[in-house]
Amino acid sequence: MSYKAPRGTRDIFGINVLKMNLLELKAREVFKKHGFEEVKTPIFEEASLFTRSIGQATDIVEKEMYIFEDKKGRKLALRPEGTASLARAFVEHRMDISNPVGRFFYIGEMFRYERPQAGRYRQFHQIGAEFYGNSSPTADAEIIVLAKDLLAAIGIDKISVNINSLGCEKCRPFFKEVLVKYFESLHNLCQDCQRRLKTNPLRLLDCKIDSYKFTEIPKISSCLCNSCKDDFHSVQSLLKSIGCAYTVDEKLVRGLDYYTRTIFEICSDMVGSHDAIAAGGRYDNLVKEIGGPNIPAVGFALGSERVLIAAQNIGFFNNFKGPEKIFIAIADQELLNNAFAFAMKIARYGFKGNKDISVFGPVNDKNLTSQLKFADKMQASKTIVFAREEFNKGKLLIKNMKNRTQEEVSISDV
Ligand SMILES: [Zn+2]
Ligand SMILES: [Zn+2]
Repeated sequence: MSYKAPRGTRDIFGINVLKMNLLELKAREVFKKHGFEEVKTPIFEEASLFTRSIGQATDIVEKEMYIFEDKKGRKLALRPEGTASLARAFVEHRMDISNPVGRFFYIGEMFRYERPQAGRYRQFHQIGAEFYGNSSPTADAEIIVLAKDLLAAIGIDKISVNINSLGCEKCRPFFKEVLVKYFESLHNLCQDCQRRLKTNPLRLLDCKIDSYKFTEIPKISSCLCNSCKDDFHSVQSLLKSIGCAYTVDEKLVRGLDYYTRTIFEICSDMVGSHDAIAAGGRYDNLVKEIGGPNIPAVGFALGSERVLIAAQNIGFFNNFKGPEKIFIAIADQELLNNAFAFAMKIARYGFKGNKDISVFGPVNDKNLTSQLKFADKMQASKTIVFAREEFNKGKLLIKNMKNRTQEEVSISDV
């Protein structure tokens, strides 16, 4: 009997864990600079939180959620995304009062029952930020800049930013009507489109099967109310003011229902296809919708797996090795205690000023040759040998495992 990780999941270990940690470290640095605070929410929530906020007629709710009942018959779901969970926490803890700045971020696992493919897993990692309580276009622009800066911090600077406005509760119904009329005039739409025409006509813009038939799609820009027009215009002028290039893509929609006004996606052709690696937008009604106060919000999320593929393809990790590995060997068993004390000391304080090290040894092995073999196997860059003759002179032997040279240094120097 042998076991494998469930389909669509994977174990992350070795260098891949270091890469993911580096991405998360960079994210935390960027978020800190913009005053965003971390929130950790549970991995599962009441299932209805997601059906209500993401929307009944979305792919996520229709077919991708992991829903289960607990022993008391409560219907729970593994979180498919972070925005709804964070909004729930925001409302539950009245963070609008305790944290008037309203800037939060999250890093963690999400779950969607999708067909596994390159860079897409059923358990995957997202990094996202949410900005509550600010309806100004500066918040939209800052979220876009934040997403862009985060990608740049991991080497992904050749990107394109696409933006669109989905309108507000006043003007969107009008656009929906115009859209429905247009789509009804087309024939032989796929089954998904026919169904969505009734539940969520905006999603038809996203259809990969029928997109070639959509030649004269009504423009949402011509249906926006004045306030939405002004708002979208301001977002664009703010982006221009900081030199952030963007394209207005009137066909851009998001797979979640809660978005209003500005939405955006950031694409990179370093993932294989020219696909979005980060996306987000404004969702002014979500907090109210799930029982909270009437507080606007805007946010974004990125998928760590796909971002790491892009970073890898760009060569960001070419010289990435992780900490320097140092092995402590003993040529004389009687020096075991000294070697052990030395290993613990450099683990705490670093080796010759370098604190980015991993220390291994000493091991219980009388044979120095086999200790050195082990040091090679674990890819130590240096082996520090405790030998009687040198030790009596207050010295240690440092073997460079790469070029096979060695030097003597005074114990007091390291
Ligand atoms: Zn509007
Ligand atoms: Zn279709």
